[in-house]
Amino acid sequence: MSENLLEINHLVKHFPIRSGLLRRVTGQVQAVDDVSFAIKKGETLGLVGESGCGKTTVARTLLRLIEATSGNVYFEGTDVLKASRRDLKALRRKMQIIFQDPYGALDPRRTVAESIAEGLVIHNIGDRQSQFAKVQSVMEKVGLSPTLLERFPHEFSGGQRQRIGIARALVMEPSLLVLDEPVSALDVSIQAQVLNLLRDLQAELGLTYLFVAHNLAVVEYISTRIGVMYLGKMVELAPRAELFQRPLHPYTKALSAAVPRPRPNMPREKIVLQGDVPSPANPPKGCRFHTRCWMAKDICTQVEPPLEEKLPNRWAACHFWDQVS
Ligand code: SF4
Repeated sequence: MSENLLEINHLVKHFPIRSGLLRRVTGQVQAVDDVSFAIKKGETLGLVGESGCGKTTVARTLLRLIEATSGNVYFEGTDVLKASRRDLKALRRKMQIIFQDPYGALDPRRTVAESIAEGLVIHNIGDRQSQFAKVQSVMEKVGLSPTLLERFPHEFSGGQRQRIGIARALVMEPSLLVLDEPVSALDVSIQAQVLNLLRDLQAELGLTYLFVAHNLAVVEYISTRIGVMYLGKMVELAPRAELFQRPLHPYTKALSAAVPRPRPNMPREKIVLQGDVPSPANPPKGCRFHTRCWMAKDICTQVEPPLEEKLPNRWAACHFWDQVS
């Protein structure tokens, strides 16, 4: 039996561009284009890339918060994208998402207890007494005192609200947590606390994480493996340590060079990426990174490099991967 909890095959999500009085479709934003990866039980896959690279669209599409254009998403062997409404409801219990803005995800008129219990009520799990007991238990797990149960979201700090967001997900006893920029809105000191909490919960509860973030340092801290996305494509996928020791894609190398390291005196190659990320409505031909790549050659402007296993467990989409590091 496969040890993968989640398998994503050839996922595509294009958003139509409409214009004119009749709102005719005049183009497509290629937000996610043929992305495939798997997540093993108990691991954390970090998905990283600049704003607009498609990482958040991947996260939301696999949960069917937005519908995919094509592809397959298997969760514990069931194709999420083809699941009936009833099956999807059952799947969503096991696949929970945590958003960047916990305040936006919380109803300001509901107490913390009501917010955390919401999923149990929707799914009709247990009676009021057992729901209350579960809410108390997850509050403690995320480091919030159950004495705060009757408070409202505005009475909490950003870090506490994110803990409430985590408690809302955990109360459903999920096996997969999709974390969409979960610490980006928090102060750096609070970010570390929330990341440590997530690590502890993973160890205690055997959770599997898909961790989406634009900050490579944050992704490096928490991930087992890292997927790097650029303009709707996965360009590199590798175990964390190997990705930083020897990047096989120039974009990964550039992102990695921008991460501050604990030993600032260590010589490090300085790479400044030129230009902006091209529009996903009109991506460059050939390798999508060629307009910003300092290693680009003629072939890069014509032939798109496929994502291939270049070394054991090391996937990269670059014609010249062996010359990157
Ligand atoms: Fe750069 Fe060419 Fe590799 Fe693309 S295929 S990343 S343009 S060297």
